[in-house]
Amino acid sequence: MDRKQLGQAMMALLGPDKVLTEELDLLYYSYDSSFHARNHRFVPDIVVTPQSTEEVSQIMQYAYTHGIPVTPRGAGSGETCGSVAVQGGIVMDLSKWQTIEEIDTANMQVLVRPGVIHANLNKELAKYGLFFPPDPGSTRMCTIGGMIANNSSGLRAVKYGTTEQYILGLEVVLPDGRVITTGGIKSRAIKNVSGLNLTKLFVGSEGTLGVITKARIRVWPKPKARGILMAVFPKLEDAPAAVLDVYQGGILPSGIEILDESAIQAVNMYKPEINLPNAQAILIFEVDGNPASVEYEGNRIAEIVKPRTSQVEWSTEPKRMAQLWEGRGVVATAAARVREDGSRVFAGEDISVPLAKVADTLRAIRSLGDKYGVRVVNYGHIGDGNVHTAPVIDPELPEEVERANQLADAIHRLAIEMNGSTTGEHGVGYVRARYAPLEHGPAVDVMAAIKQTLDPKGIMNPLKVFLPEEGINSVS
Ligand SMILES: Cc1cc2nc3c(=O)[nH]c(=O)nc-3n(C[C@H](O)[C@H](O)[C@H](O)COP(=O)(O)OP(=O)(O)OC[C@H]3O[C@@H](n4cnc5c(N)ncnc54)[C@H](O)[C@@H]3O)c2cc1C
Repeated sequence: MDRKQLGQAMMALLGPDKVLTEELDLLYYSYDSSFHARNHRFVPDIVVTPQSTEEVSQIMQYAYTHGIPVTPRGAGSGETCGSVAVQGGIVMDLSKWQTIEEIDTANMQVLVRPGVIHANLNKELAKYGLFFPPDPGSTRMCTIGGMIANNSSGLRAVKYGTTEQYILGLEVVLPDGRVITTGGIKSRAIKNVSGLNLTKLFVGSEGTLGVITKARIRVWPKPKARGILMAVFPKLEDAPAAVLDVYQGGILPSGIEILDESAIQAVNMYKPEINLPNAQAILIFEVDGNPASVEYEGNRIAEIVKPRTSQVEWSTEPKRMAQLWEGRGVVATAAARVREDGSRVFAGEDISVPLAKVADTLRAIRSLGDKYGVRVVNYGHIGDGNVHTAPVIDPELPEEVERANQLADAIHRLAIEMNGSTTGEHGVGYVRARYAPLEHGPAVDVMAAIKQTLDPKGIMNPLKVFLPEEGINSVS
């Protein structure tokens, strides 16, 4: 089907205001926030912006009948080419559909449409002393639909878990246009173990099984107090060991972040006034709760980690907390400063490894950086082993891009060797789909069977999460 015909059909369904066909508009949708999309353009044939379940269903019925690929999209903040149309066809932009349908304080839950921005939801919830805990760094951009599709989380996942733990039920439009509801979207019960858990199937499915059009989400009481502790480690191995000591001391902080030597250097180059102590690692603990428990836990963590550290500082005073946090806050931006003409790229940036292997992993990444001649800055959510690796290159030089890609490939394989995962937060999308057989083995066949059942024509976000059989067999 040619673009003109497709455009006419979509305009007949949605009206002209919800259909984009201009070259410049399409170009905007040809990338997300990934490094891969910077180097490869995937221009869709058309973009649609539905704002009702009926409209989504009609688009899917049409696409199914005509065998046209459909790629759901939220804010496009993903790092994996997940929301770009690698096989062309329709990009379905759901970011305009920003309705919070209900804040049900009596039952501690909300009902939202997919385009609601995460930070906006939490701003509304704060009025009732509530919050939706997963906290991606992209909070001011990303949509709830994108978060559910990617099962997003952030630095507080160590205590509060990931998006999946809060999704009570979904409304989903299937690839053939049928509309289903899962779990507790109709009921308001918090607990529901009835039937196969289809809600969990769709959470993290990255737009490959259907379009999420509504979500019922559990919300929690917003903590009343918090405190920050910075601990400086002369020996890298002592940092993960101290995390374990804290857990074994019966304390679960709301965040535990690591900056290794490379990140400390980057921060000090970027903002010398932050003046982080030179060390092999710095840990930043956050605790939250009520004022008395926060005070107790902060002081207890300080006692526990002290023997392994050269410096510990604990504060609940807002100005000092902001200063203690600043190094972690700027590290993503600071990474690029390790090289004058460098840019930080998102490649191999989100591996997750067992806590006991964090130190070995960081050392191995440094060796890989040396092998491929790429400066690498490491930081991340050490509390759950999620290491963010920031290669710094000149992305205008194809030879450097190639080396960064080789490094990313080696880092992904390292994660699997370490009994970890190629992605702790950002998802698989297009850029990591080829690792699925290595990471999941024969389970990929089961994933493919589920996909085949729900999407027999393969129109729903093709080539994402895992590849069709020929792709799977070609990877070793
Ligand atoms: C600066 C920055 C910081 C980030 N920090 C974090 C972080 O801390 N933690 C984290 O987890 N991620 C992080 N990310 C990655 C990204 O922001 C998250 O994965 C986010 O949840 C994606 O939301 P989105 O609305 O931008 O989705 P998109 O990027 O538009 O889409 C992501 C995936 O979801 C699918 N999708 C989107 N909407 C729907 C829908 N309604 N139905 C079905 N499928 C859908 C798409 O097809 C795609 O596969 C960060 C990104 C940036 C740029």
